[in-house]
Amino acid sequence: MKTLFDFNFNNKKALIRVDFNVPLDEKFNVTDANRIEAAKPTIDKILADGGSVILMSHLGRPKGVQDEFSLRHIVAKISEVLGVPVQFASDCIGEIAEKAANNLKAGEVLLLENLRFYKEEEAGDLEFSKKLASLGDIYVNDAFGTAHRAHASTTIIAQFFPNQKCFGMLLAKEIESLNKVLKNSVKPVTAVLGGSKVSSKITVIENILDKVDHMIIGGGMTFTFIKALGGKVGNSICEDDKLQLALDILHLAKEKNVHIHIPVDVVAADAFSNDANTQIVDVREIPDGWQGLDAGPKSLENFKAVIMNSKTILWNGPLGVFEMEAFAHGTIALGNYIAESTAQGAFSLVGGGDSVAAVKQFGLEDKMSYVSTGGGAMLEMLEGRTLPGIAAILD
Ligand code: AMP
Repeated sequence: MKTLFDFNFNNKKALIRVDFNVPLDEKFNVTDANRIEAAKPTIDKILADGGSVILMSHLGRPKGVQDEFSLRHIVAKISEVLGVPVQFASDCIGEIAEKAANNLKAGEVLLLENLRFYKEEEAGDLEFSKKLASLGDIYVNDAFGTAHRAHASTTIIAQFFPNQKCFGMLLAKEIESLNKVLKNSVKPVTAVLGGSKVSSKITVIENILDKVDHMIIGGGMTFTFIKALGGKVGNSICEDDKLQLALDILHLAKEKNVHIHIPVDVVAADAFSNDANTQIVDVREIPDGWQGLDAGPKSLENFKAVIMNSKTILWNGPLGVFEMEAFAHGTIALGNYIAESTAQGAFSLVGGGDSVAAVKQFGLEDKMSYVSTGGGAMLEMLEGRTLPGIAAILD
């Protein structure tokens, strides 16, 4: 696996695919610079080597050229984060981009206009990729959030740099963190899978059953399992067409010696609302008209014991409807257990969409070993798929 440290960038132009798809307010101010900060170590290393940096990214989902999606809006923010001036090319290919790239000197940074102003980007067009490739000497992919897409700048472009391509530090860290969970893990390994539906997590569950010792299943998925096992789930979210699948998973887990932990009690509500009436009930005895929206206290106690005994922890998906304060407790408690276990030496990886949002919302980000930056990309890796953006560098 080639990383930045396999190259000396002295007098080289590094063409870096970053993910600067940052949120902007109505005045085009960057409201969250996390993604820019995440790319800083890669950029710093190249500049410190005496190289120059050409940044390519997409922003939003423009239909052709639309000023509201111009990356010029974020030039000042990038400059502030990096602590160096940032030049801007108002096109990502063609004369404007070529001129700006040619004039770039060691130590300088250039940002290209939004790649998605060209439909060729998402189409993975070869000619477009070739034009982008002509701008730099070494291709660096540091955009984990788009690594599962075979777009021009994330994948197709790599073939124009047969020996001059590598992972940036962020992408390398993502791969390394996942390997720490799925490949070189320290046992016992525990996966916590929450979220709403079994159907959206089934491939993840199947893939990681081979790699874990314990699996905690929570969130809305709980009720498909409970109903399959003969429990009464009331109005809880439940996929009736997945009952057999749930039983198959339990069977497979048993065969593979994986301990499955499902909530034993839940916070049930008489409506899907923050001010609904609530009661703690046995997960198998949810009254008609009521629905389970969070894990109950006994379940949390059980989960805590598993988490505190684990040396490697993967967390994907909330334990309840954490967006509503009344049903956030289970997710917050779980986050705290993982934080505590991490403080005692466990390796913890939080990845894939909503659990990352939860960890950030509840201020637990710094207490996890690693919080992934890519929702869809992380899920696909957990499913055991090879991401095209990663494969293109390994080729
Ligand atoms: P996912 O995108 O599959 O990870 O699902 C995340 C969503 O699952 C969040 O928006 C949660 O509100 C939702 N969720 C978690 N627990 C439950 C539950 N018991 N009932 C309904 N939705 C839930």
